[in-house]
Amino acid sequence: EREAALAGGLEPGALADGTPIPLLANLGSAEGAQKAVEAGAEGVGLFRTEFLFLDARMAPTVEQQREQYVKLLQAFPGKKVVVRVLDAGADKPLEFLNDAHEDNPALGLRGLRALRANEDILREQLTALAEADAQTEADLWVMAPMVATVEETRYFVRLATEFGLKTVGVMVEVPSAALLADRILAEAAFASIGTNDLTQYTMAADRLLGSVAGFQDPWHPAVLRLVGEVGAAGAAHGKPVGICGEAAADPLLAVVLVGLGATTLSMSPAALADVRLSLTRYTLDQARALAEAALAADGAAEAREAVRTTAAGFAHPP
Ligand code: PEP
Ligand code: MG
Repeated sequence: EREAALAGGLEPGALADGTPIPLLANLGSAEGAQKAVEAGAEGVGLFRTEFLFLDARMAPTVEQQREQYVKLLQAFPGKKVVVRVLDAGADKPLEFLNDAHEDNPALGLRGLRALRANEDILREQLTALAEADAQTEADLWVMAPMVATVEETRYFVRLATEFGLKTVGVMVEVPSAALLADRILAEAAFASIGTNDLTQYTMAADRLLGSVAGFQDPWHPAVLRLVGEVGAAGAAHGKPVGICGEAAADPLLAVVLVGLGATTLSMSPAALADVRLSLTRYTLDQARALAEAALAADGAAEAREAVRTTAAGFAHPP
């Protein structure tokens, strides 16, 4: 019966010992909200607002944005919805925000850096979000992409708070932010780890470049150590640490990430059922043992193998 419920995506995410691990959806438009609810999403862990802006020659108006945010928030009454302010640049260039002539756009004026250089656009987005929040019943969290420093964290938290937004956090997807997670989480209400960019920057391998795709592997112990830094900082501050990169959608890696201190997992709705089932197979102690096995490995392939071997040694619930 439980298996049937799980297959239907109805049970909230939890480990075998009952530790809740809320399972959230990554969404790119309000239109995807209903499907996410049907797949059992307990909220939204990453709403990529770029879709509103892609192809636009100019930023959408406050009214246009508010309408979309209201639609999204209305689909999740009483639930957590984490909206990321515009993440423009590199793989997601915007005509009105990014300079097409940067030699290394992934290392350029992107994410929060680009918004800060065009603060009117950021202010409009925060205005639209605050207005949508006031009209709806969802629990709105707001976060900034590509944060690299404590100072940027302070800047964003202060600005978003000015607009009346209450739960303000940052993405950790740059190694400097992971290494400073204890300082960053002293300022921010939560952190959400973007494993796609965190892997790209840790391994110095362009996430869009096929010839270095082998390096873009979030199982790499170098990446996992950084995740562990953030998890430990979250535990020390009593603040949530989510994962919103692709890594959370890998059922076994998801357990490792929990063992490293992740308190929520966010992924494309299609991945929710498999991850939900995988979590039920391990206790928190076992997840931590899997994380230790991964951290002790030399590389990504070895980490995967070590975790599989360690997991096979556990007595699984039927
Ligand atoms: C990430 O970098 O892991 C992430 C979730 O953000 P995006 O994939 O949109 O860059
Ligand atoms: Mg990213």
